[in-house]
Amino acid sequence: MNYQSTRDKTISVTSAEAIKQGLSNEGGLFVPESFPTVTGEEIKSLAKMTYNERAKFILGKFLSEFTDEELAKCVDSAYTKEKFETSAIAPVYKLNDHEYILELWHGPTCAFKDMALQILPHLLTTSMKKTNEEKEVVILVATSGDTGKAALAGFQDVEGTRIIVFYPDNGVSEIQKLQMVTQEGNNVSVAAVKGNFDDAQSGVKKIFTDEEYKKLLARNKFSLSSANSINWGRLAPQIVYYFSAYAELLNSGEIENGEEINVVVPTGNFGNILASYYAKKMGLPVKKFICASNENNVLTEFLRTGVYNKNRPFHTTISPSMDILISSNLERFLYDLTGNDDKVISEWMSKLNTEGVYEVSSDVKAKIQSLFAAGCCDDAETMATIKQTAADYDYVVDTHTAVAVAVYNNYVKETGDKTKTVIASTASPFKFNQSVLIALEDHNAVVGKDEFTLLEELSEKSNMRIPASLAALKNKNVVFDLVCDKNEMQNVVSDFLMVE
Ligand SMILES: *Cc1c(COP(=O)(O)O)cnc(C)c1O
Repeated sequence: MNYQSTRDKTISVTSAEAIKQGLSNEGGLFVPESFPTVTGEEIKSLAKMTYNERAKFILGKFLSEFTDEELAKCVDSAYTKEKFETSAIAPVYKLNDHEYILELWHGPTCAFKDMALQILPHLLTTSMKKTNEEKEVVILVATSGDTGKAALAGFQDVEGTRIIVFYPDNGVSEIQKLQMVTQEGNNVSVAAVKGNFDDAQSGVKKIFTDEEYKKLLARNKFSLSSANSINWGRLAPQIVYYFSAYAELLNSGEIENGEEINVVVPTGNFGNILASYYAKKMGLPVKKFICASNENNVLTEFLRTGVYNKNRPFHTTISPSMDILISSNLERFLYDLTGNDDKVISEWMSKLNTEGVYEVSSDVKAKIQSLFAAGCCDDAETMATIKQTAADYDYVVDTHTAVAVAVYNNYVKETGDKTKTVIASTASPFKFNQSVLIALEDHNAVVGKDEFTLLEELSEKSNMRIPASLAALKNKNVVFDLVCDKNEMQNVVSDFLMVE
């Protein structure tokens, strides 16, 4: 199967090329030329499979040039019992007779990014081999927290890859910093940058666009790449868990095969919710997609009005992984809704770039409204939802999942729609222990306590085990203590790769 660019559909590449390139040269995103289908019979057969078998089945339909052996190796290297704390990989938890939580955070870094970043390095190295690329991939990441650690854990010791992560000094939570500076592996490096996330991000962008420097790296057999969420190799693995959730509901007798469900996703870059939409395109019975945002509600407004306007204040919230004003993966969704109109997509994206705003046609708006509902909530409502969900169901959710639960509750109140609903849960509550404990009690619950005390207290309150990877941080050595100036980032890369 080939992939075309959303901004120039005459560009057509294999899946291995799409994964290797990440972004198309003219700035478009790669999308499949057509969507493979999954029949009702096939969905029934998924119910009897393990998560890894389901992943091989779904991914095999997209990565058609990968041999069965290659794909099996990628999947079985990613979703292992050493890395995931449950053999179900992405289990479904029943809250009540119509509300189900899809837990996507049992991986090594306790956030849903593991679902994609555990497999991406293997898809990438396989793609490099298949396209006869002899250079070693060097992944550069600027992170505000979750992505950096998930990428480090995914690329750790994967042959043919190196990874360097830059995080803002004083710009990530204590536990996120600990997770990164204690990272093990013989191909990894981590540095703090003096400044904020934007400084780290522009430093990385500068390295990516320095043609002379890239030539120097190429002479040393290195090729730069990124692990961000516009890569097809990150999106495709996310389609799998929506089929898997449906299969789990079939197994437990909660739904009949063919019955439509709703899906709720706490959204930032629009990758996760887009994956659920792609699952429906393939044949998964979904009635409504409910897109949940925090106070950065640019998507809520867009999905309701058809106007995307990023000219608005940026809010720092307690669900930081959703603090986003430009949702890159929306471009893929619009490409699909316009019937693959690369001209109009280029026009809208260029407007977004120059004016910060664009409006879709009434026809596209109508399609969005027939499929999507959208809502948002602020930090106070997020906190109240954590407390209420714990009181009602004895089940503790993290701040991001709480946004989804809050928006869903409002949706049900407004519509009365009691269709069985899967809510994507994107992080373990332990990863955001401060906010969660404050929500369950009050500010006094956290004053003067270190991270490990907080983990233990949350464990007592929630009756959940502390994830082993977080508990283990206590006894890990700090491996990376480098703090660099934002102008020195290139030197950090050169030193690590030993090029000059
Ligand atoms: C990245 C992230 C999100 C947002 O996912 P998108 O695919 O960018 O929409 C939500 N919750 C958590 C915990 C995340 O890490």
